[in-house]
Amino acid sequence: MARAAVSGRLGERLRWRVATLVGQREETPTTRTLVLDVPGWPGHLAGQHVDVRLTAEDGYSTQRSYSIASAPDGALLELTVQQVSDGEVSPYLAHDLIAGDLLELRGPVGGWFVWRPEQTEPVLLVAGGSGIVPLMAMIRARRQLQMQLGPLAPFRLLYSVRSPGDRMYLAELQAPDPGLDVHFLYTRQAPQGWARPPGRLTEADLAAVAWPPSAQATTYVCGPTGFVEHAADLLVGLGQAPDRIRTERFGPTGG
Ligand SMILES: Cc1cc2nc3c(=O)[nH]c(=O)nc-3n(C[C@H](O)[C@H](O)[C@H](O)COP(=O)(O)OP(=O)(O)OC[C@H]3O[C@@H](n4cnc5c(N)ncnc54)[C@H](O)[C@@H]3O)c2cc1C
Repeated sequence: MARAAVSGRLGERLRWRVATLVGQREETPTTRTLVLDVPGWPGHLAGQHVDVRLTAEDGYSTQRSYSIASAPDGALLELTVQQVSDGEVSPYLAHDLIAGDLLELRGPVGGWFVWRPEQTEPVLLVAGGSGIVPLMAMIRARRQLQMQLGPLAPFRLLYSVRSPGDRMYLAELQAPDPGLDVHFLYTRQAPQGWARPPGRLTEADLAAVAWPPSAQATTYVCGPTGFVEHAADLLVGLGQAPDRIRTERFGPTGG
């Protein structure tokens, strides 16, 4: 009986669904949020992703993973796609898709890199580039819950981008929720007058925002593979317990 229920839920997640693009927002010149209507969507947790499948007229088909940007209880599903300049799929999603176009997707996928409403510990979010997407879903989920329940455990976000123009969700992050501290870090070009010179994430950057080990916080790190591995190593060096650091790698390059 329990087995049948589990396989039924798995079947739902593995089923390809047809989504319709019903809205879009430009987040940066190379990044766009796609607002999708997905009939029969089973719901998701903040941090999960979907698989998107594109099929050409000649039958050629390819698929990629995209994190869900929207909070769990929205009627529509949002994905934010950053264009990889020589990429096969992301330029199409970030630029070419127009309202009314259809996409195949399945999910939600993932059960480890998630923030659940019942978590009460402090949280550190560390994002490199488009790695902000699932972390934004966590911020949005917390905001929704906080509106219903009142103050929740605090979140801190350290968001590493190449330059100020690369910051996604800027308006939302510049008006942060109570209990959310947002810190930006620039690797190539910082805003004028910014005290920290542009450069790669350092131990000092993380030490300035990390919760003390005694806080038993959970840390979520997401971004390009090199960024994630570097950040996780630094966090462990700072005394964070490895089993309290959850990571999600988006792509092959360093940050
Ligand atoms: C779990 C998961 C969630 C993801 N969520 C998101 C998301 O929310 N938003 C988003 O924009 N992307 C996300 N990605 C990355 C996404 O799946 C694709 O890898 C990305 O869009 C590039 O696809 P492409 O077809 O354009 O490039 P490809 O044709 O696959 O690759 C083209 C070139 O770019 C390099 N490349 C591939 N991926 C990346 C990358 N991520 N960064 C830098 N270089 C890359 C390749 O090595 C290759 O040289 C996620 C990946 C995973 C595994």
